[in-house]
Amino acid sequence: MQQRALELKRAGRRIGFVPTMGFLHEGHLSLMRLARERCDVLVVSIFVNPAQFGPTEDIEAYPRDFRRDEALCEREGVAMVFYPSAENMYAADASVWIDEEALSGRLCGASRPGHFRGVCTVVAKLFNLVLPDLAVFGEKDAQQLRIIERMVRDLNIPVEIVRGPIVREADGLAMSSRNKYLSGNQRENALCLRRSLDQALALFGQGEHDAAVLRQAMVDLIECVSEAEIDYIGIVDERSLAAVDEIKDDVLIALAVKIGNTRLIDNAVLHL
Ligand code: AMP
Repeated sequence: MQQRALELKRAGRRIGFVPTMGFLHEGHLSLMRLARERCDVLVVSIFVNPAQFGPTEDIEAYPRDFRRDEALCEREGVAMVFYPSAENMYAADASVWIDEEALSGRLCGASRPGHFRGVCTVVAKLFNLVLPDLAVFGEKDAQQLRIIERMVRDLNIPVEIVRGPIVREADGLAMSSRNKYLSGNQRENALCLRRSLDQALALFGQGEHDAAVLRQAMVDLIECVSEAEIDYIGIVDERSLAAVDEIKDDVLIALAVKIGNTRLIDNAVLHL
């Protein structure tokens, strides 16, 4: 991969990159379209990264369908699909990791210790292999996006990070490879994530700036839904991800909810 990327760069081609874990959906494809508009050669990686899964998280159960993914990539004009094995990506005695220290402990990081260390390390490795000029990440993973932006800034990595908007199903559920795990009822119950965000946005629109009130309204809505268990609801500063009490600046409302055994995330940014 790196050899090919070096050849492309020597030929003056601009490389765009979309890293994924595969089982592609319209959200991934929208990022590919954003990247393709801004580059000459589009590379997509498909890698279910063991380093970002915790010991209790079932990496083997993560959905995979490489043939289908490959066909979708071809249709989107992807020049190369990079599909490494875990053995090729990580030396058995790998001992260097990237730890982002300010944003990673919050929100998802609090319930998934080590997750963002795995994410940062694999993204840095993928950048070194693909040598992209730009890479697109989805706002669906709001915390991940901000951590990658921080890593690129703090380590002077010469990659432009482009933000891709959240793509949703017609009824508002954010697209995710994990939606496949949901049964018919759970699929309906999963709408509580988006509905609770809408509820908070509506209250904010009516002039409510107290984060605790917005949060409680979200809790009340989700607690009425069967099989829904809140992991966290964060109302945080859009940049630092620190919790806010009163909304005086742009905030990110991010939540993770388990529907049965499936952990789903969603978010919205509240602009003042
Ligand atoms: P994943 O395959 O889940 O690791 O996601 C790969 C990339 O796709 C990440 O940058 C995600 O933020 C992005 N992504 C996943 N779902 C969506 C979505 N519904 N809308 C926009 N981007 C998404």
